[in-house]
Amino acid sequence: MGAALKLRDTTVVGGGAAGMMAAIVAAESGEQVALLEGNEQLGRKILISGNGRCNLTNLAADEQKHYHGNHPHFSRAILQQFRLRDTLEFFADLGIELREEKRRRLFPVSDQAQSVVDLLVDKMRCSGVQIETGAKVIDGHFDAGFELRLADGRTFGSERLVLASGGVSLARLGADRSGMDLAIGWGHEITALRPGLVPLISPEKYLAKMQGLKIRAEVSVEIPGGRRIADTDDLLFTKYGVSGFTILNLSLRVVPELAKGPIVLRVNLFPGRSPEQVGRMLEERWLRHPHRSLELSFAGLLSSKLVRPLLDRLGYDRALCVARLGRDMRGQLSRALTGWVIEVSEPRPFDYAEVTVGGDKHGWDKSRHS
Ligand SMILES: Cc1cc2nc3c(=O)[nH]c(=O)nc-3n(C[C@H](O)[C@H](O)[C@H](O)COP(=O)(O)OP(=O)(O)OC[C@H]3O[C@@H](n4cnc5c(N)ncnc54)[C@H](O)[C@@H]3O)c2cc1C
Repeated sequence: MGAALKLRDTTVVGGGAAGMMAAIVAAESGEQVALLEGNEQLGRKILISGNGRCNLTNLAADEQKHYHGNHPHFSRAILQQFRLRDTLEFFADLGIELREEKRRRLFPVSDQAQSVVDLLVDKMRCSGVQIETGAKVIDGHFDAGFELRLADGRTFGSERLVLASGGVSLARLGADRSGMDLAIGWGHEITALRPGLVPLISPEKYLAKMQGLKIRAEVSVEIPGGRRIADTDDLLFTKYGVSGFTILNLSLRVVPELAKGPIVLRVNLFPGRSPEQVGRMLEERWLRHPHRSLELSFAGLLSSKLVRPLLDRLGYDRALCVARLGRDMRGQLSRALTGWVIEVSEPRPFDYAEVTVGGDKHGWDKSRHS
């Protein structure tokens, strides 16, 4: 540590959601704080979160079951110190009014993620945080304190360091491994990183014909050990495979399995209904309009953008008059529509992942972090 370097109390590396919160909390407790952000703009990931509206918390955020890391004690200890109630009070104090949407998600009434960033920055300024943008940390040493070297040659010294450099997803927003490398340099071990909340690629080319179609469906998957996990919500078809809430949510469990080989997803196009119930519903339609072709018999029930490629894929003659559908074909069809098999082979890369899964191998260990 150079003798001339003046040590402030705390430096925060990273001006995303985590770094800005950490800087505010440290400054509010009386510390002298500098926040170093590599981008010219703070909170770039917040700006694209929730489709630009920022789903900033969830009314179920206190439920431990929603935390999926390898070290549940880590999240438990942290979350007990700052509970949902504290989060709501914090944002209310900033002046952000919230509205609840499906799955208990909370969004700013302004519908603008920008308002969240603006008010976090305002809070940092009012709390006396020294904000440095365009301040990419490229190297760091620890001696009597932390000394950080920036890409532009400047140095910053502090007694404490908060490394809030985020994950590696979305390199176009400035994300990279530099923060992880700093942590490794200080003796942390990092687990393998995986894309999380990520769309899945399918080798089944016919899905591309459904590109852009979003439906509500139940998607399930059997994971090793025979356990079935499922999610009912939006399913989006893309030119590479599948996305939407269901897929992003299931990706957490599916992506590690994809490292071992392809996985089969089962899609129920009629969530909550059994093959028998769907079979009876279709029978009624076919009885009422026996002159219709198989394809037309789904009009008003399922999108034609889905029905055409799916019937082709399942090997049905779309033009077949429903009166001529055999008993076996009827049964097969209702089973296929409630258990449509879609194979997926890999996740989309980090550039399409909302989060990075993995990180510090040991989680929070008092003896290593004190
Ligand atoms: C498309 C999309 C939608 C999302 N939607 C939601 C949502 O609705 N709700 C939700 O809760 N979450 C959402 N997320 C996830 C959420 O955006 C992230 O979990 C959150 O922003 C992570 O915050 P962070 O501060 O940990 O990391 P980041 O936001 O990645 O911030 C880290 C910061 O550190 C900076 N940095 C990195 N290395 C250095 C360095 N060496 N020197 C200086 N600065 C450095 C980076 O430039 C970056 O600004 C979404 C993510 C994406 C991609």
